[in-house]
Amino acid sequence: MKNTIKKNIRKVENRITQACQRVKRDPRDIQIILAVKTVKPEHILTAADLGYPMVGENRVQEARRKIKQLSDRADKLEWHYIGHIQSNKVNKVIRFASMVHSIDRMKIVRKMNHRLKKVGKTMDVLIQVNTSGEDSKYGIHPSDAINFVREATKFKRLNIKGLMTIGLFSDNWPKVREGFAQLRQLRDTISDQNIPDIQMQHLSMGMTNDFELAIEEGATMVRIGRAIFGERDTPDSYYWPGIDSAPYSSNHISE
Ligand SMILES: *Cc1c(COP(=O)(O)O)cnc(C)c1O
Repeated sequence: MKNTIKKNIRKVENRITQACQRVKRDPRDIQIILAVKTVKPEHILTAADLGYPMVGENRVQEARRKIKQLSDRADKLEWHYIGHIQSNKVNKVIRFASMVHSIDRMKIVRKMNHRLKKVGKTMDVLIQVNTSGEDSKYGIHPSDAINFVREATKFKRLNIKGLMTIGLFSDNWPKVREGFAQLRQLRDTISDQNIPDIQMQHLSMGMTNDFELAIEEGATMVRIGRAIFGERDTPDSYYWPGIDSAPYSSNHISE
């Protein structure tokens, strides 16, 4: 498994480099967040040791279990929270996460701000936008995003660092790309408003099947699971209610 992970990471690095070349971007501007739902702790370590210490978790319990198992290597890893946040889990999320990608409602903003204040911390966050229009995806409606960001900046314990989206589950690649382009345009529009106290430097978008498109459209963080760790046994419907199974019939890169 160690060698497989290593080989997979090299492939992902090559795909990133090629995507960057197509749009004249610097591959060093792209951060890989390991999407590690269902991945065993030792495999997370293998990837971290190859230079990828940023780990994205979807579920609080799973994250806490792995953090405990990896406690002697804690300094090597940086935990990101990328899943849907239940408001009764906010407390726990702020204890381990260094960035939360999935802020998708005001209730969470208020609660997180309140808890952060209590413990004397701040948190880097991204606002999740539903660019695909699929009901099964969480996130703010694109037309509400600017107002949402404006409102969220009033909560000073949250450092808004950009936007996140989950691409359309489809092999209609032009449509998938449109969603990523929409997130970039939203980011630019928000930046142009010069709202105080925010830096919109990050676009967290792109997963195993679509990260090249996301990079071509400006992603700064790609969240990658299967391309590095292999297929998952647990269906994604466990993490995203409403989604049946592997949504893809093909990859947009012909191999
Ligand atoms: C699982 C997951 C990913 C990675 O998906 P892969 O297809 O395995 O690359 C990215 N983002 C989120 C929010 C996820 O839940």
